[in-house]
Amino acid sequence: MEVYEKQTIDTQNLNKRFGGAVHLYERSVTNLGECTLALVRHGRTRHLVAVGGGPVFDELEGEEEDGCKICPTNHANRLVLNRYLPYTQPVANTTRRPSIGLGDRLGEATPGHIEALRGTSVFPIFAQQSIRELNFTNRTFDDVIDRAAYAVFQEGYTSGYGADGDHLKKIDDIAKALQQGATMITLDSSEQIDNSVITLKAGELEAMYAGLDASLRTLYEQLYREKVFTVGDNSLKLDEKSLMRDVLTYHKALDFIQLVYERFIKGADKPIDFEISIDETDTPTDPKSHLFLALELKRRNVVVSTLAPRFIGEFQKGIDYKGDLHLFEEDLAWHVAIAKQFGYRLSVHSGSDKFSIFPILAKVIKGSFHVKTAGTNWLEAVRLVALKDPGLYRAMHQHALIHFADAKHFYHVTTDLDAVKPLSMVGDAQLVQYLDDDNARQLLHITYGYLLEDVDAQGNKLFKDAFFDLLIGEEELYHQLLDHHISKHLVLLGFKQ
Ligand code: ZN
Repeated sequence: MEVYEKQTIDTQNLNKRFGGAVHLYERSVTNLGECTLALVRHGRTRHLVAVGGGPVFDELEGEEEDGCKICPTNHANRLVLNRYLPYTQPVANTTRRPSIGLGDRLGEATPGHIEALRGTSVFPIFAQQSIRELNFTNRTFDDVIDRAAYAVFQEGYTSGYGADGDHLKKIDDIAKALQQGATMITLDSSEQIDNSVITLKAGELEAMYAGLDASLRTLYEQLYREKVFTVGDNSLKLDEKSLMRDVLTYHKALDFIQLVYERFIKGADKPIDFEISIDETDTPTDPKSHLFLALELKRRNVVVSTLAPRFIGEFQKGIDYKGDLHLFEEDLAWHVAIAKQFGYRLSVHSGSDKFSIFPILAKVIKGSFHVKTAGTNWLEAVRLVALKDPGLYRAMHQHALIHFADAKHFYHVTTDLDAVKPLSMVGDAQLVQYLDDDNARQLLHITYGYLLEDVDAQGNKLFKDAFFDLLIGEEELYHQLLDHHISKHLVLLGFKQ
């Protein structure tokens, strides 16, 4: 081969080999000296194509003919891509850029997310699925990272992205996520947090506290009891009662956080973003509790990247914030001041579609923070169905209504199904309006597992194939819908002009 010979992808030859028209993702074409790589799609399936020779060509699994190898977009080939094109591998957000957790429930949303991010310096977490979501969609964390890595390659996106093992509660799950390439661990210690303490009456609180080991009580009392701590321009006193409450509520969680940090994060062979989430509680996190946690994390030498308190108000899936915006702003100011003082960033969970609080976050935090969105890319996919295939939309909507009661066991929503217009009253051209209605959004948002995985009497998936055929066939439109929706988040958050 000539040194200066430019390798190109001969799509005519590919069309012949696939026996049909092949779509070349132009932005993916990458020249690695003696080998040129690109991503193509035939029907619903994407393939990696390698032309030329050399080590990367040899390492990729695939079928070779005349110096052109057609390779499956599988896990093994993703690892080869990671070795030769480091930007395809997830990394930690070590420079603490403003960041957004996007997740990709379907494995098809990342190119649209990339579109929305263009022209910003936001650090995206493209791979971000909780165990609950993986179970509902029958996916593994490996698969989630594979899809993100191929999407990054497809779009020629080289600015870095992270992979979040989201809301992990078990040691085994943390070990597995890290082994599979997670660059961020969101530790959910809700199994160690005693939420009942907040409901105790004064006498009960004292009795329960007296039941703690005496040395433990002495330790905390000497450190904190009735002490006043400066927080930003204000101060907070850890009075006896709040200290008793916080010790009882959080001391087991703190031990667990420390254990996870020391075992998995501190000595890891690469940087890991370590997030503490205490947001899965019934009551908002008292700033005094946040301060107590921050002081304890520092004393225990636990370095966290981000912390997600439970903020005041309601953060329900798929719809805007519900609550008093002034109270939210006041509450947020305390949490920001504590986070800044202790050197970590705040994280806001269930952040999709919380448009009314985004400008407040931008104004009050005035710096870097993390916002997690999830599942909103699923709703944009359903919007696409409503726009392009009314029959499929109606069948999915009907199925969602049947399974809503079951799905509700897994999500906190206050959906009023009676307020959702009956399908029979809505013409095809108006179906898309369901996606702008809070009650219908929640109906469709939480039933995704049933819509994607349910089967008929013969064991065939009810909607999954038709759904993905449409989504991939109309991928340009799907990316536009996502770009529009996520850009609205980024602009209001102050992350994008
Ligand atoms: Zn959360």
